[in-house]
Amino acid sequence: MSQLSFKDKVVIITGAGGGLGKYYSLEFAKRGAKVVVNDLGGSLSGQGGDAKAADVVVNEIKAAGGIAVADYNNVLDGAKIVETAVKNFGTVHIVINNAGILRDASFKKMTEKEFQLVLDVHLNGAYQVTKAAWPYFRKQQYGRIINTSSPAGLYGNFGQANYSAAKSGLIGFAETLAKEGDKYNIKANTIAPLARSRMTESILPPPILEKLGPEKVAPLVLYLSHEDNELSGQIFEVAAGFFAQIRWERSGGILFKPDASFTAEVVAKRFDEILNFDDSKKPELLKNQHPFMLNNYNELVANA
Ligand code: NAD
Repeated sequence: MSQLSFKDKVVIITGAGGGLGKYYSLEFAKRGAKVVVNDLGGSLSGQGGDAKAADVVVNEIKAAGGIAVADYNNVLDGAKIVETAVKNFGTVHIVINNAGILRDASFKKMTEKEFQLVLDVHLNGAYQVTKAAWPYFRKQQYGRIINTSSPAGLYGNFGQANYSAAKSGLIGFAETLAKEGDKYNIKANTIAPLARSRMTESILPPPILEKLGPEKVAPLVLYLSHEDNELSGQIFEVAAGFFAQIRWERSGGILFKPDASFTAEVVAKRFDEILNFDDSKKPELLKNQHPFMLNNYNELVANA
């Protein structure tokens, strides 16, 4: 099998001073990419900053003969990060939205600031970087975006209302970018990883952490970022060598008669049918839903 090369491709990886982002950076560089290693070098909760985080990764790449530049901007200044790419390498082809922080607290105790800050870094940060890269992607008819969600964004997790909301948002964001980017050869996908990093070190037991190296996540990120990848708007769960696709599933549903007989009591009575997945569909397009209901309207109502 020939190696997936990223020669002459410019990749921005946000939050690349440690954990997953660092590993991605080293891998992209090994495969010939010009890497913008972005990281403001703050704490896990998003406090402070230190240029060292990005510098260490850039030095490691350069020492191995690769091409990289450090960027210390906050992802909320996404335009500046893209500027670093353009100034040093002329353009940007790939954006890996990876930067993140945690401010965990039960919803009862979570302050508005804790909620907002986490949304800002994950979701608005991804927006800012992607927004600035988008005109380059369109003009060169090429772009790859990876958004980093989380199992918490798919399923929810105790103490992470802020994080889950941001991580779910990243999924919808990529799904829409996939549709809008389609005719410009811009592909946007989302991963929901689990990996060993400072985010998980204090939560998971060492024997589990041992299995969760970032090298088990990076291959999927690399493939989805490559020009060979045609998939877009998709979601993947990835951890410990396990790779799987996540998709939406809609129950067969029922169509009620929209007349006086359609009441809350009727919904309650037939709730089991709404929840029945025996005849489920896997919708991917918003427009699929409405013609399905409208075209089959008479038949469905007749059978209701
Ligand atoms: P990490 O803390 O090692 O990496 C996150 C990096 O983002 C840090 O280096 C940090 O300095 C940087 N960062 C934070 N705020 C920033 C900002 N405003 N601007 C620029 N950089 C900023 O943790 P990680 O586990 O490698 O996390 C990477 C991504 O993966 C995050 O988005 C995280 O939410 C996600 N994720 C991780 C796991 C896991 O199990 N580790 C699970 C699900 C999702």
